[in-house]
Amino acid sequence: MIQLYIPLGFLGVLYREIKQSLTDLERMFHLMEREREIADVPGAQPIRIEGTPEVRFEDVSFSYEAARPILHHISFVIPAGKTVAVVGPSGAGKSTLSRLLYRFYDVQQGRITIAGQDIKQVTQASVRHAIGIVPQDTVLFNDTIEYNIAYGNPGASRAVVEAAARAAHIHNFINATPAGYDTMVGERGLKLSGGEKQRVAIARTLLKNPPVLIFDEATSALDSANERAIQAELQSVAQNKTTLVIAHRLSTVVDAHEILVMEAGRIVERGSHAELLAANGRYAQMWALQQSSE
Ligand code: ATP
Repeated sequence: MIQLYIPLGFLGVLYREIKQSLTDLERMFHLMEREREIADVPGAQPIRIEGTPEVRFEDVSFSYEAARPILHHISFVIPAGKTVAVVGPSGAGKSTLSRLLYRFYDVQQGRITIAGQDIKQVTQASVRHAIGIVPQDTVLFNDTIEYNIAYGNPGASRAVVEAAARAAHIHNFINATPAGYDTMVGERGLKLSGGEKQRVAIARTLLKNPPVLIFDEATSALDSANERAIQAELQSVAQNKTTLVIAHRLSTVVDAHEILVMEAGRIVERGSHAELLAANGRYAQMWALQQSSE
């Protein structure tokens, strides 16, 4: 009986632990699922990056399932330290580009290079180390706000975390919470708004200081003051970084080195904001539509 009781008691504790960290677990399963998709080639070395690298998509085609091609012959270059923005309707394949660059999946045709090296031929871990992602919806761990900002940089001191929070304009918000940087957040703690979560992600990225940045803009509308502030913060984070922006609002992309307009997995138009307006095509239509709705 005792023998049975102990494991059951242990299971009870385990169950509570699991329930408490459901958010973390969900995230872990999510990542594990993705991990299975790709494996490093035998003898793969870490990617070598000095300074700010160039990023290239060379004739990339990709499908999640063999029967349903998603991307068709995508080629573009993000010169070192510049920003390329991707726009287009829902389901066009924009976020798929960012997943491929972060190497959640390997491309089936063509190649993606960072600093001239095919990301399929180097270790996945080193590719991810070189890239910071500010995702659409940041998952927060059921832990302190400090832990959430330092996530991925476990050695970071409070002073360093605070400096990143100040730069991401979330320090004052944190200071106003009951326990400051020790306040618990996540499902079971303080709930943060979409904008606050994005700021946590920006602070995290500032701490990581990667040479390549992916910004997947939130689809959910932030109020316009918040949106402008986040854009300004992001621009300062993106300084001297090679950046891919998946944009849902065209105001984000005006200053991009190049804008790619995607539809059904293809680039249907490309150029600077001014060039695309002058071309009077899909982008110009989208721009006019967005201006009138604002
Ligand atoms: P949105 O603006 O709505 O975020 P998007 O342009 O970023 O859309 P993607 O998320 O890249 O679009 O999706 C492109 C296509 O790939 C969609 O048709 C989607 O259904 C499909 N897709 C996305 N993820 C998967 C997956 N894990 N397995 C199968 N199909 C997927």
